[in-house]
Amino acid sequence: MTKQLSIAFVASEATPFAKTGGLADVAGSLPPALAKLGHKVSLFIPLYKEVDRARHKIPDRGHKLQVQVSARVIDAHYKKIKWRGVNVYFIESDGHFHRHGLYGLTDGAHPDNSERFSLFCMATLLALKKEQITLDVIHVNDWQSALVPVYLSQLFSSDKTLGKVATVLTVHNIGYQGIFNPLEWHLLGLDFSLFNMHNLEFYGNINFLKGGLIHTNIITTVSSTYAKEIQTKDGGYGLDSVLRNRSKDVFGVVNGIDTDQWNPKIDETIPQNFEIANMDGKKKCKESLLNEFGFPKGENPLIVMITRLAEQKGVDIGLVAIDQAISKGINFALLGSGSTQYEELAKSLKYKYPDNVFIHIGFDEALAHRMIAGADMFFMPSRYEPCGLTQMYSLAYGTVPIVRATGGLNDTVSEYSSDTKTGVGFKFSKYSTEAAFKKIEEAVTLYRNCPNIWNKMVINGMKEDNSWASSAKEYLKLYKVAIKHKQGISIK
Ligand code: ADP
Repeated sequence: MTKQLSIAFVASEATPFAKTGGLADVAGSLPPALAKLGHKVSLFIPLYKEVDRARHKIPDRGHKLQVQVSARVIDAHYKKIKWRGVNVYFIESDGHFHRHGLYGLTDGAHPDNSERFSLFCMATLLALKKEQITLDVIHVNDWQSALVPVYLSQLFSSDKTLGKVATVLTVHNIGYQGIFNPLEWHLLGLDFSLFNMHNLEFYGNINFLKGGLIHTNIITTVSSTYAKEIQTKDGGYGLDSVLRNRSKDVFGVVNGIDTDQWNPKIDETIPQNFEIANMDGKKKCKESLLNEFGFPKGENPLIVMITRLAEQKGVDIGLVAIDQAISKGINFALLGSGSTQYEELAKSLKYKYPDNVFIHIGFDEALAHRMIAGADMFFMPSRYEPCGLTQMYSLAYGTVPIVRATGGLNDTVSEYSSDTKTGVGFKFSKYSTEAAFKKIEEAVTLYRNCPNIWNKMVINGMKEDNSWASSAKEYLKLYKVAIKHKQGISIK
């Protein structure tokens, strides 16, 4: 093994503690994968109300931290557990985190998010100091932890240990940047001279992610295609020029999947396990899902979506395409939550086709597993998709993805070719109902008319190795790049 690194991973959510989306899956699986490779890893997340204290054996008493927020001093705490080889530190401040919703409720973001997450960043650094952890790298994720590199460069540069630590910032979704009113600046604890366009100022507002992108040693994002897309005007959500200025420090590493959690051979949440050598369980999972949803038995393919109901996910074109496809004989199920507008759109499909559509509005992990195991096809018509995990889960469970060729979907789903008999799914490029419908139609026709080819595609998908093994090694290489960057050694 190469030199053991000491890594702190900072994220605003991590499975199995608290989750709203893919960031949690990554933060809950990359740190243990790095620990398994022999590195010393700590994970920092907020202690939200949602975190199950009893299940995770989180101690009642924590270590005290005093965090300055504007003119106030907040008494926060951190509590530590050991989990899958990782030291997990929960940052506790009930006034900030003990409430419903990680970032907000359906009617909008929590109004004090700038204070909540600047406090989280500062408390993480104070906890690291208090624990006297000697670190090589701090790996932060998205806007919620993006102030860590800013604090390090501005407030801890002469600190004996933290002053030398390299930083990596991973962008999981550039559509969310942590943009706040400039009147909230006093909460951040940073000198006002940083409120300028070369630092945290963004069209008159404060932008946490921008600050992180400028102050971190290197930037990564979750697929190679997305690494290019975020440097374009269309894909950068206003930060493309910041990223282009740092383009030599921008890298793409595709996410892995946690094969302890998402593995049809051992998954305890599905009706029957299965694997390539014995696919009976897959049939059983479909049968049981048809029953659960009250769908008629028969030869119709079952197409599912599991998604945040947000503009990014292409729900608008997707549901219209599904509407057209239902008349061709499919069953459709959607599990999701998010904007009311899309929830209503989904429910209207159910009213129109009560026998062939199932809609569950809400967040339900066990149902997500059952749906991915029992479906024939997984539909992901995303407008943009940094990496996407559900298409990789689908591949592992023999469920064929139909995706829009964007970001990580483009990188992880290869189109089936009848000539070479390679490929694992279906891709369309144009963001339109017609393009989405045509692809669904093509998939359904192949499913009905060529079962042998279909089964070959299913097996191809199940054989793909999307585990963390290789992506964790990629990150290790990039940590070394960040360390050299910090030491002032040019790499490219
Ligand atoms: P994103 O992070 O943009 O939401 P990803 O595909 O990267 O998209 O990750 C989504 C994760 O959240 C997956 O693990 C998926 O199974 C899960 N998920 C999304 N919506 C739901 C839901 N309503 N119920 C259960 N799990 C969900």
